[in-house]
Amino acid sequence: MDEEQIPDLLNYISGEFHSSLNGKWMDDICPATGVPIARIPCSDKQDIDAAVSAARSALPKWAALTHDQRADWLEKIANAMEDRSEEIAQLESLDTGKPITLARTVDAARSVANFRFFAEHVREFVPEKFEMEDATNHVIYKPVGVSGLITPWNLPLYLLSWKVAPALAMGNTVVAKPSELTPMTASLLAEIIDDIGLPSGVFNLVHGTGDEAGSPLTSHGDVDLISFTGGTQTGAKVAASASSSFKKLSLELGGKNATIVFADSDMDKTVSGVVRSAFLNQGQICLCGSRILIEESIYDEFVSRLIEKTNSMKIGDPSDPETDLGSLVSAEHLAKVCGYISLAEEEGGAILTGGSKPEGIPKQFDKGNWLSPTIIDGLSPDSRCAKEEIFGPVVTLHAFSDEKEALQIANSTDYGLAGSVWTSDLIKGSRIAEGIETGMVWVNTWLHRDLRVPFGGIKHSGVGREGGRWSLSFYSHAVNICVKHD
Ligand code: NAP
Repeated sequence: MDEEQIPDLLNYISGEFHSSLNGKWMDDICPATGVPIARIPCSDKQDIDAAVSAARSALPKWAALTHDQRADWLEKIANAMEDRSEEIAQLESLDTGKPITLARTVDAARSVANFRFFAEHVREFVPEKFEMEDATNHVIYKPVGVSGLITPWNLPLYLLSWKVAPALAMGNTVVAKPSELTPMTASLLAEIIDDIGLPSGVFNLVHGTGDEAGSPLTSHGDVDLISFTGGTQTGAKVAASASSSFKKLSLELGGKNATIVFADSDMDKTVSGVVRSAFLNQGQICLCGSRILIEESIYDEFVSRLIEKTNSMKIGDPSDPETDLGSLVSAEHLAKVCGYISLAEEEGGAILTGGSKPEGIPKQFDKGNWLSPTIIDGLSPDSRCAKEEIFGPVVTLHAFSDEKEALQIANSTDYGLAGSVWTSDLIKGSRIAEGIETGMVWVNTWLHRDLRVPFGGIKHSGVGREGGRWSLSFYSHAVNICVKHD
């Protein structure tokens, strides 16, 4: 695409599309080709102030609607998104470098599903009532107010819709700040919301960097709630900034998830499941299993099958429906991930496969951010590569001799987001799952999502829970009204 012709994406504030007030722009780069594909406003505090003011003005009328009325709006958004789901998938693949099949089946499908799910969920929402001998307690759920929603680049619209839908459903108004690296589908959502005529100011979108646009949102005195998904270090800054004004806060942060493979697991199904959990979206999912713990007795056979399956994946043109793996999101992120591969070698690790740019990538992708799926053996579970989040197509392998050692290794990081256990003994599977110190664990599966269940981490992986009723509760204030009987 010629740089002259690339589109300008705009902020969406009070029902109108604007460039930033400072008039500055930045390029949005296609990760697979290294070529600019759009410009976004380099917004700052002035734009955030305008968006927050629009959200505040729109709040009383939106908050006064019934759950059913707001659910109707969510369904309108879902329908309009579904009509444009192929466009969502195309833009998401272009903007992130992920394979189009993944963008269709996960990103586009799930973004629509999030709006539908929360529409239905809020319709069915029944507030509690607690009877006493001489009084009745009525719990009511009030909107929190103006919600600042900050999202990362790995699943751009999927994660944004996961926040926008419950926030709107519970009567809040929204100022969203997506990652500067992947702004396209957030802009498409703003277009859709404008097309269906959602009242002005209920949803506002501000593009820009974390420092220039994200930070003024988290510290803003007139924002009541922050829901942040991103890295743990950024999460710490967001928490410090938001807590000074006692905002309601949810933090969904990084992970270093263990995949525990027992000798009694079904080898074929486990190899497929483990490869999927390691490398889906080029390993750029917070839930990816990046430490693979294998019972000693099957170590050699399992590792050889793992390498074979990994090497059978097709890496290349993200727009090809047969592609399994695309490019990493940015040159900076590729450099960070490659830095960890060099560190692994310094730490004494052996690269069993991958570790470099894949061969045979078509010429138009020469300047993209490519890395073969990489498996590293021989590192101590206490090495930096085995404990720090790499967030790319890189996994480390570790042998264990018994359940105790498996759990000890699994729990030896600061993170506590997710994990998976692979065994044909479901009692053992549940026992191990309960022993893993994370917010979520799968047994004989991975990323098997039911939108009703709690989602979130412990330790350095986050604070709070979203998902199902946990989202409805986070995006509202529970107020108890105790009425004394005559
Ligand atoms: P990031 O660098 O922390 O950025 C996340 C978002 O925060 C972006 O929109 C970013 O803006 C913004 N931001 C940066 N600095 C900020 C500040 N000082 N104040 C307010 N906002 C700020 O994370 P990322 O690299 O985009 O995403 C990868 C991370 O997200 C990984 O650690 C991954 O594990 C985590 N993640 C967690 C979950 C979960 O549910 N637990 C899900 C997905 C991803 P710009 O990028 O535009 O500067």
